[in-house]
Amino acid sequence: MAETVRPEQYNEKPPLLAAYYTYWSDLPIDGRFETYIRARRGFAAAPTHDGLTLTVGGWPHAEFETNKRDVEGNFRKMFDLAPEFADRIRSAKRAAPFAGAAVTNYFRKPYGPGWALVGDAGYNKDPITAQGINDAFRDAERLAGGVGEALGGARPFEAAMADYQQARDAQVASMYDFTCELATLAPPPPERAQLLGAIAGRQWAMDGFAQMNAGTIPPAQFLSPQNIAAPAGAYSLPPRGVAGSGLSATATWWIRNCPPSWSSVSKRNRSITDVVQSSPPAAGRDMS
Ligand SMILES: Cc1cc2nc3c(=O)[nH]c(=O)nc-3n(C[C@H](O)[C@H](O)[C@H](O)COP(=O)(O)OP(=O)(O)OC[C@H]3O[C@@H](n4cnc5c(N)ncnc54)[C@H](O)[C@@H]3O)c2cc1C
Repeated sequence: MAETVRPEQYNEKPPLLAAYYTYWSDLPIDGRFETYIRARRGFAAAPTHDGLTLTVGGWPHAEFETNKRDVEGNFRKMFDLAPEFADRIRSAKRAAPFAGAAVTNYFRKPYGPGWALVGDAGYNKDPITAQGINDAFRDAERLAGGVGEALGGARPFEAAMADYQQARDAQVASMYDFTCELATLAPPPPERAQLLGAIAGRQWAMDGFAQMNAGTIPPAQFLSPQNIAAPAGAYSLPPRGVAGSGLSATATWWIRNCPPSWSSVSKRNRSITDVVQSSPPAAGRDMS
């Protein structure tokens, strides 16, 4: 349909990542999902059916032409960047050919006279953040609602579809930018690196990070300027149990133990630091 109607396309980006998938037997993984991020490289492994282990990984699309001549050799060089994993995979046996994928990134106007687009046909991005299936289902639901309104005479088709497009774009905008940023495999900007370093070891922050990656809270919320711009003291806290945070015991306790969920923090437009400053624990509560 999209090929036929040639819809208006916007916010396009070329392929950013060349990714390849394959399966291995005799690759012990112990039920875990493992992921490794290295300079200009990233890969992951996960157990799957028939005792096989899936690996997915790749390099920036700029290296696609050069590296496609020897995908396996380049994969093995990439594994060597994680020596413990490389040791394990050396004795494994590849059980499938490499399957490669590189996608263009775009938004399309998803409707016109007598037609509408959902899913990848209307909006596509690199699969590195694994959002496409959720997005496609959400589009289908929104579109069905809009078409139902139009067919039922509640509002004109054009108005219902314009809302569908607007809602889609608003919902996915920050995930699209985040996805395209990740897909370059470039190091995160310094303030992002600082934030990511600070959430490690704090369960509530790690939960928020997992929520963002699952697509249940948008990156614009998790990576909000309030959070990123918080005073260095809050973000440079050493991991739990390490002394020397520079904050009071009360503040440290709150950061580490009981701030509200990310969503309630964001609803009130507050940063981690706000929470620390305004929510001291009740007197006499165990601060250990
Ligand atoms: C390598 C890779 C890995 C991915 N990993 C993930 C992931 O882990 N998690 C995730 O959520 N998303 C992932 N995605 C994205 C996800 O697959 C897509 O976003 C999702 O499948 C989009 O669904 P869709 O229904 O829009 O399109 P599709 O799933 O592509 O379905 C469109 C269907 O229409 C058919 N079709 C096309 N033209 C015609 C025609 N003329 N007549 C009849 N049928 C036609 C196609 O054959 C296809 O079956 C990945 C994508 C890629 C490329």
